[in-house]
Amino acid sequence: MIEATPSSTATRSIALMYHAIAGPGSPDAAQDPHYTVEASRFAAQLDALVRVAGGATSARDWLAAPGRAAVLTFDDGHASNHALAWPMLAARGLGADFFVNPGKVGQAGLAGWPELREMAAAGMSIQSHGWNHRYFTELDDRALRDDLLRSRLAIEDHIGSAVTLLAPPGGRMRADLPLIARECGYACVFGSEPGVLDAAATTRALPRMSVTAALDVTTLEDWIAGRGIARARLRYGVLGFAKRALGDRRYERLRGRLLGQGDRAR
Ligand SMILES: [Zn+2]
Repeated sequence: MIEATPSSTATRSIALMYHAIAGPGSPDAAQDPHYTVEASRFAAQLDALVRVAGGATSARDWLAAPGRAAVLTFDDGHASNHALAWPMLAARGLGADFFVNPGKVGQAGLAGWPELREMAAAGMSIQSHGWNHRYFTELDDRALRDDLLRSRLAIEDHIGSAVTLLAPPGGRMRADLPLIARECGYACVFGSEPGVLDAAATTRALPRMSVTAALDVTTLEDWIAGRGIARARLRYGVLGFAKRALGDRRYERLRGRLLGQGDRAR
């Protein structure tokens, strides 16, 4: 009898990038509403991942044993990651990475070190989002290396486990960031460019699908099946062009104005 050859898709998956979660008991008014996912919607998305992708795990654990499971990541270390997201992950036996800024941990609206330690002790992965969310593209070579080293060591100090993954704030990165990150002790960089995750391509920044407030389960299931990724990449490319043409600050203002109107219509 001939065994079916495992397809290469066994080591391909998608990584999702979340930010804050909003629940009835914890309005997260300080957070960007465009990227804040309502708790019941988040629950439905987790259930879809279990149903369609066979589960979800942290990038740290996925890289150690790549498979079909989706990868879950959270940026910025919002208090709601601990208060809302983590219990919902734990109830389903799912894992995730939380990319935090050690220079901001414990500030208003953000999880503190005791909360992050509690999550780490339960198997969650706490990783680096840079020191204080300064865009890496605004730092010179030396300041960038300082930021990467300092953030990694501070998190390792407070959490007590290795920090091997880096997600650049705002997804802003120079082309050689994966190389510099390696020199600063990281194994891998996770960007904000949409795409399919490939465990064999870790010398480049790995892609993540950005989850916004409006993401529905059908679109999520499409992504897991590999559909709609090209469209997301095209949209990201257009936004990236606008960023480069306008500069980061002017782009943020324009985006705020456009989203303020556009999202109501969805
Ligand atoms: Zn961020």
